[in-house]
Amino acid sequence: MTQSNQVGWQEVENLLGVRVDRRGTYRVHDGVPQRLHVDHTSCSGCSVTPEEWGYDPERGGGCHECGYHGRRVERDWVPLDAEGKFDWDAFFHVDELDLAS
Ligand SMILES: [Zn+2]
Repeated sequence: MTQSNQVGWQEVENLLGVRVDRRGTYRVHDGVPQRLHVDHTSCSGCSVTPEEWGYDPERGGGCHECGYHGRRVERDWVPLDAEGKFDWDAFFHVDELDLAS
């Protein structure tokens, strides 16, 4: 059964035995500590707007997908490695990990 519990940094430090960023937002997902990673990206729905329209390439022209802001906020729960850092390898290979377990 998949279980996720939002936890404080203290619990993550207890789990990993290392110091972690106290500003982070953490949870434990299936026993694996994860940290919320927030990224601002250009909207995939409208960032391909032709340059001649005069839009900033980093910012879409606006569409219903992004609420006409041209930018989107992506929130991802990323597993932490043994040092309490974002473990992007594990994040991008979640499916393989699931198969192995
Ligand atoms: Zn958009």
